[in-house]
Amino acid sequence: MLSERTFEDLKAYITASGRTRDLFKLEQAYLLAEQLHAGQVRESGEPYIIHPIEVTFVLADLGMDTDCLCAGLLHDVVEDTEETLEDVRRRFGETVAKLVDGVTKLGNLPLPTKEEQQSENVRKMLLAMSEEVRVIIIKLADRLHNMRTLMYRKEEKQRKTSLETMEVYAPIAHRLGMRTIWEELEDAALHYLDPVACREIENTLEMNRAERAGFVQNMQERIRVRLHEFGMEPRIEGRVKSIYGIYRKVYMQGRSFEEVYDIYAVRIIVNTVIDCYNTLGIIHDMFRPVPNRFKDYIATPKANGYQSLHTTVIGREGVPFEIQIRTWDMNYTAEYGIAAHWKYKAGIKGKDKLEDNLAWIRKILETQQEGEGEDDIVRTIKTDLSPEDIFVLTPKSDVKTLPAGSTVIDFAYAIHSAVGNRMVGAKIDGRIVPLDTVLRTGQIVDIITTRSASHGPNRDWLSIAKTSEARSKIRAWFKKERREENIAQGRQSLESEFKRMSIVLPEKQMEEMVTALARRQHYDSVEDFYAAIGYGGVLLTRIMPRVREDFQRLHRPAVPAPVTPAKSSNGVIVEGIDNCPVKFAQCCNPLPGDEIIGFITRGHGVSVHKKDCQNVQAAMKDQSQLDRWIPARFAEEEGVKGFRSTLDIVALDRTALLADVSTVIANFRVPLHELNARELKNGNANIVATIGIQSVDQLNNIMKNIKKIEGVMTVERSGK
Ligand code: MN
Repeated sequence: MLSERTFEDLKAYITASGRTRDLFKLEQAYLLAEQLHAGQVRESGEPYIIHPIEVTFVLADLGMDTDCLCAGLLHDVVEDTEETLEDVRRRFGETVAKLVDGVTKLGNLPLPTKEEQQSENVRKMLLAMSEEVRVIIIKLADRLHNMRTLMYRKEEKQRKTSLETMEVYAPIAHRLGMRTIWEELEDAALHYLDPVACREIENTLEMNRAERAGFVQNMQERIRVRLHEFGMEPRIEGRVKSIYGIYRKVYMQGRSFEEVYDIYAVRIIVNTVIDCYNTLGIIHDMFRPVPNRFKDYIATPKANGYQSLHTTVIGREGVPFEIQIRTWDMNYTAEYGIAAHWKYKAGIKGKDKLEDNLAWIRKILETQQEGEGEDDIVRTIKTDLSPEDIFVLTPKSDVKTLPAGSTVIDFAYAIHSAVGNRMVGAKIDGRIVPLDTVLRTGQIVDIITTRSASHGPNRDWLSIAKTSEARSKIRAWFKKERREENIAQGRQSLESEFKRMSIVLPEKQMEEMVTALARRQHYDSVEDFYAAIGYGGVLLTRIMPRVREDFQRLHRPAVPAPVTPAKSSNGVIVEGIDNCPVKFAQCCNPLPGDEIIGFITRGHGVSVHKKDCQNVQAAMKDQSQLDRWIPARFAEEEGVKGFRSTLDIVALDRTALLADVSTVIANFRVPLHELNARELKNGNANIVATIGIQSVDQLNNIMKNIKKIEGVMTVERSGK
C-alpha cells in the first residue's frame, strides 16, 4: 500500500517547492472535497479523499497553478449534479469550475475493444484539450494515480485499464512532452500487460547493475574532470532507460540487450546553448563517436518540443554509450513538456510551443472531420503522436516534419494533395527511388509530377502511407473520381475476404447479410457500401472479425471448429493459434530443438521460453497467470519441409550493414546458407542472402524486417 499522504503533507510539499500558491483557497477546495467524498472508499479500502490528494500531488510536481490544483482536489466531486458545479463556480471562480466540468465531461474512457466508442472519447478529449490544456493535464494525473493503485482492481479491469493507458494516455503524454508522466504510465501498464517480460528486463538490469554503475560513474568522473579544465561545472547525471523503452527495442524491434546503446546514458546539463555545442566538441575529442548516431534536437526540436544533443560514443572497453547534452531550460521541458510551457504562458517564452501543441491537436481533429470520421482516431494518435519525428527537406529547403516511418507518398501529400495525386516518381538526394521508400531525417526529397489532370494515386498507396493525412487525401481522391471502379473493387475485396474466411451462404442469404452489413455501417445502399470499401472508407480488416463471429453464431451453431494443423510463425507452432506473433525470450534464447513453452502476453503476441528457463519456473508459481502458458514447439521437429530462398538486397553502403542484415535473419532462427556482399558503383551495396524458410509468410516477415534496417532501399526475392 502506498503511504497515506494527507492534505497537510500536500501543503508542506507545495511550500517546500518554493512556489507561491494560494494555500487558503486550496484548503477550502480540500474541505469541500472531503465533505463530498465523506464515507466513500476506494477498492484499496482507503478513504476516497486520498485519491484527489495524490492527483494534486502530481499536479503540484508539474508546477501547476492554484486553480489547477483546486480542480485536482475537486476533480471527482461533480459526477452529474449541476448544483455542485454551481457551488464550485460560486466559491472558487469560473476557471476552477470550467476545469472540473471539463474533467467530469471527459468521464471514464470505455473499454478499448469498443473501438468506435473509444475514438469518440479520444475525440472529446482532444476537443477539451484544444480549449484548455489543463483539463488533460489533470486527466493524466488522475490516470497516473489510478495506475499506481491498479493492483487493488480485478484482473479484467487491470488489463483493460492498462491497454487503454498504453494506447491513449501514454501517447498523449508523449505528444505533450511530459516524460515523467509517460514513462511511469508505460512502465506501470507494461507490468500488467506483459509481466514476464517486465521481470526479465528487471532481472537483466539487476544482473548488470553493479558493473554498469561502475562504468557510468567512471565516465561521469572523466567528463567532469575534463570539462572542469575548460572552466565548466555542469551537472552530470547517469540515467537508465525506462523498462518500457527497453521492452520496445528488445521485444518489439527484436534487438538484443547489447544493441540497446542507450540503456545507460550520461546526461550533461549546462548553462547555455553555446556550452552545449562546446561540450559536444570536448566529448567527441575524448571518445570516438559512433557514426550516424549524433542527433541535434537543439537545431531541430522534436514535435513535442524536446531539445537536446544526443551522441553515442565508444567508452572504456569498447562499450557504446549514449550522451545527452542540454541546458537547464531544455531539461525542464524534457521532463515536464507542456506543463513547463504552461508556466510561462503569461510571458513570451514557451508560448509558441504551447501554440504548436494546440495546433497539432486541432489538425488531428480537422483530419478526422475531412475523413468523415472513417479513420480510426486511436490509430492516428498512435502514429501521429510518435515522438520519433523525422525532418526532410523540399528542393527549396522547406522543412517538413513527418512521423518516423513516413514514405515518399506521405511527403508528397504533406506538400499538397495535388502533388500527391499527380506524383509519378521521386528522387531522394538526386537519386530516383521507389515510392514506398522510407524517409530519413536530412534527406532532400523531390517529387516528380505529371501535368495530366486525370492522373491519380494508386490504391496500394493506402497501405504504404504512414500518416493519416496522406491516407485520407488518397481516399478522398478515389471517393470523388472513381465510383464505378470503387464499387467493383469493393465488391471483389469483400467477396475474396468472405472466401478467405470460409463464409459461404446461398445467394439470397448472402445478399441479406451484405445488406445488413451495409446498414450497420450507415450506408443507404449496398453499392455505396461497396464503394466505401473500394476507396478505403470502410476497412475490411476492421469489420471482418465481427462479421465472422456473427456468421459463425448464426449459421454454424454448436459445430466444433474443424481441427486444422496450426501454422507456424518464426518457425514456432503455438497450440491453437495460427500465425500467432511470436518473440523469443531474451533470458533463455530458445533455439530449434529446444523444448519450449509460450506465454500469452497482453497485446504483444506470445513470448517463447525454454521449458527449463528460470524465469518460467518462477513465473509458473503465480497461480493466477497459469492459464496464460500455452504449449508450443518448433515447427521443424514436425518435419515441416523447409525450402531455400534467396534475397537480393540493395542498401546504402555503411559499416555494420552486413552485420545488421545477418542479425535480423538470425533473430528469425532460420538457417543462413550463404551471404555475399559487393559494392555497387553508385555508392550502394548489394547483399545476396540465401536462407532456409518454412513458409512464405515467414519469408515476407523477414523481408519486412530487413527493409526496416537503416539504409536498406529494396529487398527482393531473386531467382525462382
Ligand atoms: Mn479520479
